[in-house]
Amino acid sequence: MTALSLKSVNKSFGNVHVLKDIDLEVEDGEFVVFVGPSGCGKSTLLRVIAGLEDASSGEIRIGGDLVNLTPPARRGIAMVFQSYALYPHLNVRGNMALALKQERQPKAEIEARIAEASRMLGLGDYLDRYPSELSGGQRQRVAIGRAIVRQPKLFLFDEPLSNLDAALRMNTRIEIANLHRALDASMIYVTHDQTEAMTLADKIVVLRDGRVEQVGSPMDLYNNPANQFVAGFLGAPS
Ligand code: ADP
Ligand code: MG
Repeated sequence: MTALSLKSVNKSFGNVHVLKDIDLEVEDGEFVVFVGPSGCGKSTLLRVIAGLEDASSGEIRIGGDLVNLTPPARRGIAMVFQSYALYPHLNVRGNMALALKQERQPKAEIEARIAEASRMLGLGDYLDRYPSELSGGQRQRVAIGRAIVRQPKLFLFDEPLSNLDAALRMNTRIEIANLHRALDASMIYVTHDQTEAMTLADKIVVLRDGRVEQVGSPMDLYNNPANQFVAGFLGAPS
């Protein structure tokens, strides 16, 4: 089954054409990584998929359903940002519960989902703390936990580790790979980091100036880059 399908998606801001005829398929359970230079449209593409921005034209389908007009909360998607975007006035439990309360989930269900997510992320001892009382790595786990409790079919990660130091980045990368294995969900993950792309991806999408430059498995792209631009990004010898 196809989790997500984009057909000729375009996005302009005023007369700035940012996304250009994007075609993309993400299969159920697939881990897809977007790479490309700063400003090429990676975050905009995630925001259009999430419904935080409207596409200017083209079709967005999730699980086969056209969602162009579906609000973000009803797309079955959860997004994790580089900046964590936690609510400072809510503790960890409150941050994780918020979207579920808005969905009017029963209290016992909310508690069970928070318990499960915090077990997976090692956050059990931190539920009463506020974001200001957490390290950067712990904050990012809370942001991931807040996505997990919603039980989305598709996770979107926008450079989630880029504010962490190298050691923490590696640990968290391994945890994200473990989460992907444990959760029955598809993931799209934006990164600048070649190691993250090569180790996490089932499929890499190389973006350049708002277009899809090449799509393939890490080994495809490494061994058969379409051009010097792709080779430069994924480190294959020229
Ligand atoms: P990336 O995440 O790959 O670095 P972005 O998607 O953030 O790139 O940005 C792609 C382009 O779209 C940039 O030129 C950026 O300035 C422009 N852009 C993004 N959001 C807006 C906006 N809300 N209004 C106008 N231009 C925008
Ligand atoms: Mg970005």
